Amino acid sequence: MTTTASVVLATVLRCGPIARSGIARTSGLSPAAVTRTCAALAEAGLLVEVPQAVPYQGIGRPHVPVDIDTGRHVVAGLHVAHPYCTLTLLDLRGRVLVRRTIPHATPDDPHEVLTTAADELLRLHADRFPGHVPIGLGVAAGGWVDPENGVIVRHASLGWRDTEVRALLTARTGLPVRVDSHARALARAEQLFGASRGHNSLLHLFVGNVVDAAIVTGGAAHRGPRSAAGDVAHLALGDPAITCECGKRGCLEATLSDRAWAARAHRDGLIGRPYIFDLVDDAAAGSPAAAAHLAERARAVGRAAAVLFDFLDPEVLVVTELGTNRLPGCAAALRDEVVAMSRASADAVLTSSFGADVLAVAAGAVQLDVLYADPLNIRNPVWQGV
Ligand SMILES: [Zn+2]
Repeated sequence: MTTTASVVLATVLRCGPIARSGIARTSGLSPAAVTRTCAALAEAGLLVEVPQAVPYQGIGRPHVPVDIDTGRHVVAGLHVAHPYCTLTLLDLRGRVLVRRTIPHATPDDPHEVLTTAADELLRLHADRFPGHVPIGLGVAAGGWVDPENGVIVRHASLGWRDTEVRALLTARTGLPVRVDSHARALARAEQLFGASRGHNSLLHLFVGNVVDAAIVTGGAAHRGPRSAAGDVAHLALGDPAITCECGKRGCLEATLSDRAWAARAHRDGLIGRPYIFDLVDDAAAGSPAAAAHLAERARAVGRAAAVLFDFLDPEVLVVTELGTNRLPGCAAALRDEVVAMSRASADAVLTSSFGADVLAVAAGAVQLDVLYADPLNIRNPVWQGV
């Protein structure tokens, strides 16, 4: 659903600071509707007039531009990865204000992991941004996530099943909580805040400990009736010599995940422990062997991405993967492989816009997506103390 407020706020996000007349011109809305909506958005604390006027032409009133008000609200985010949670507070432009990671003390106990993280997030807000009203809490995770019911249906590597995240965290924090897959959340984040702003269709491939994908068309990620769209973990686009835990051969995740690739680099004698960050750090520090190992992974990711690209024919492909995120050589290897193996042109192949903040942005984007879809529907929740 597109509302007038969502069109105005999205235009300001993309073009701001911008005069109201500019919003009307860019969006096609009437000047009266823009003025009315800007007043409502300012009243809600989402828009603010920027002090310095744009050059005045001498006719009528000076055009005072408006911009997103980043001084009154924050969005909280919680990303659940295999070994740790990432906690974050974002401003309304999707910028990470603070982020912290906490390892899972009891990975088998989702209730304990989530409540510990939520309590820490409450403290983070109280310590760092007590004057900013939190709009809501976004929760992102890999695997099969059902946003409709707020449930992590299955997180294979953690072994979680049917974890009722929204019910648990709403009770714990008093905030509106929204839960989604991190691949879908990042696809929307790229459209809202990233280098792919303005593109109508986007394919996002996430390669971490979980491998999954998302397709966004218009302003929404496709979820499917079971919220299972984008599950590419067990597509046979990987190495046929590798047997997956699911029993099949050549699964993408069993070949390319952080854990699988780090184990391989460890076996090959490149790193002293099977830890992907060690391999990336070595490559960044100038190790040609580590760089070559990661470039090989980037090419393998590229071959899988090329198949998905040709199947879906999006305007752009965005890949989130540690090596391509950090190392220009890996990004080039990925791009070359996709271009060689698909209809994609080089400028249609992008790496993540969010660098080291990617997991934090994924979590916050779950909630920011809701805000930008229907901005005047936010309520001002009371942030419960711990
Ligand atoms: Zn499999």
